[in-house]
Amino acid sequence: MLVLGGGPAGVWAALAAARAGARVALFDKARCGASGPTAKNSVSLWNIPPGPAREEAVARGLADGGHLGDPEWMARVLAETYRRVDQLARWGYRFGGERAGLCQPSPAAGPAWLRSAAASGPDAAGRPARICVDGAHYLTRMRRCLVLAGVRVFDYHPALQLLADAEGVVCGASGVQVRNGFRAWSARADAVVLATGGCAFYSGGAGTDVATGDGLLMAVEAGGELSGMEFSSAYSLVPVCAAPSAAGVRMPGSIPAPELSQHFTTLCDESGAVLGGAGFGSRAAAFEALADGRRVYASWHAERVPLRAVLEGTVRGTGGVRLIGFDCATTVPGLFGAGDVTGREPITGAAGGFGGQGGAWAMSSGVWAGAGAARFARGRGLRGPAWPVPGAGLHTASGIDPRAVIGLVQEHTLPLRRSYWRSAGSLRDSIAELDALWPATAFALGGSGPDRVRAREAAALLAVARWTKYSALARTESRGMHRRTDHPVAVERWCTRLLAGGLDTVWVREDQCALSCTPQGSDLASA
Ligand SMILES: Cc1cc2nc3c(=O)[nH]c(=O)nc-3n(C[C@H](O)[C@H](O)[C@H](O)COP(=O)(O)OP(=O)(O)OC[C@H]3O[C@@H](n4cnc5c(N)ncnc54)[C@H](O)[C@@H]3O)c2cc1C
Repeated sequence: MLVLGGGPAGVWAALAAARAGARVALFDKARCGASGPTAKNSVSLWNIPPGPAREEAVARGLADGGHLGDPEWMARVLAETYRRVDQLARWGYRFGGERAGLCQPSPAAGPAWLRSAAASGPDAAGRPARICVDGAHYLTRMRRCLVLAGVRVFDYHPALQLLADAEGVVCGASGVQVRNGFRAWSARADAVVLATGGCAFYSGGAGTDVATGDGLLMAVEAGGELSGMEFSSAYSLVPVCAAPSAAGVRMPGSIPAPELSQHFTTLCDESGAVLGGAGFGSRAAAFEALADGRRVYASWHAERVPLRAVLEGTVRGTGGVRLIGFDCATTVPGLFGAGDVTGREPITGAAGGFGGQGGAWAMSSGVWAGAGAARFARGRGLRGPAWPVPGAGLHTASGIDPRAVIGLVQEHTLPLRRSYWRSAGSLRDSIAELDALWPATAFALGGSGPDRVRAREAAALLAVARWTKYSALARTESRGMHRRTDHPVAVERWCTRLLAGGLDTVWVREDQCALSCTPQGSDLASA
């Protein structure tokens, strides 16, 4: 079995598959355990003990997510995460201390998930209800477990293509060896788990340098579908680097990142006026102020740090490869998905993963995808011949500079006016420009050595940007992180999930699965 990607989703998948008796190889674009946003951040996990607090978390998750979530999936993730956190503790990972304390704010402050965590308190065994993990330590420990479980880990081996047999069953992958002169590698397997993370469009967010949407492109090229791509506009607030130090303005970097990311600071404008109240309210007001060209500061112990917005795209958004079962199977036989590469609407709905759901989902979906893929692999018969799935940006020579492709994609994704606020006009403008670049990307982008990897990433970024724009244009309402200035309210008719796909021609259609919609008072207007 192959696992592509060695972030939390990939390592849990590899471990689960190995424990189910599969022979597993894991390939990472960089170094497994030291790459991706978890490895570079202190992450909180959606880890809530059984009981009323968990039920409340599910109810709140559904409401916060614009009723696009699924209570059964949420309950399963909460239960699985709780089990795996326990397992981590048994393996010797030490929770607690200052970092865990950060996850126990005052009940009055912070967004919904923080309030529910604080309200639930420690469980009967004295464990904190919600925990933060030091990402680097957590993944280092997991890597050790992989080695002990016999998983072969290939660092600096980016996957560029999937392999499929004559029936279209995915049965391997190929790529290049970064530390060995970019020589090609190819590996056959009876099942493949994609765990390559999301797409943050090279925005510069911590650990998102590898989140270039490679897995989404590989899945669609193999015939896969996507879901929730319109919910790809997650932004974070980070300190502005190299900002001038003025009276009362502290130089950046002095607020510890977890405090900032977890909203323990007060956000204010140039005049010192507090923006929007506590928690998400203040964040929304801060983004609106930044989009209007105003300055926003975080107040921290009577000092102020200037902030800017950084797009996290589908990393803390929702969109990704569509899953069709609790075993994390995709619509492509032999291909399973875990973590940020997958669509997370059942867990986060339209709201994205700012409440620790990303880390919880990576853990849970990793375990399920690993076990599901191992089961699928056991049922495979004799292997026939397999071929690389053809894809964009894979030419041996380059007729187009990947930097030009990346630059155009960034122009149409990174600014708040392109992704935080959307309108039919701006979306159509983006689609026209991005579509115009696709044929050249598909047929003339490529290269050798490091250019080959860069070209493939550029193709993935462009493909992901197009799927997000088409999906955002189709959803003519505002819901969760999807904000349309020309359709500013949620509309009951749109309480449905959107699927997307296609390469030369992008398609978007409604998911036919039934969702029970609960009106949200004045938020909802009739179509
Ligand atoms: C600043 C920031 C803070 C965050 N804080 C939190 C938090 O507090 N709580 C929370 O729950 N979530 C948080 N998240 C989200 C969380 O980090 C992600 O949900 C989680 O890392 C997803 O894990 P993953 O394994 O799916 O993907 P990733 O962690 O992105 O790992 C993907 C791996 O795949 C590899 N890869 C990529 N492309 C290829 C390829 N082509 N071939 C081979 N390997 C490849 C990468 O090198 C990487 O190792 C945060 C995200 C950011 C950006």
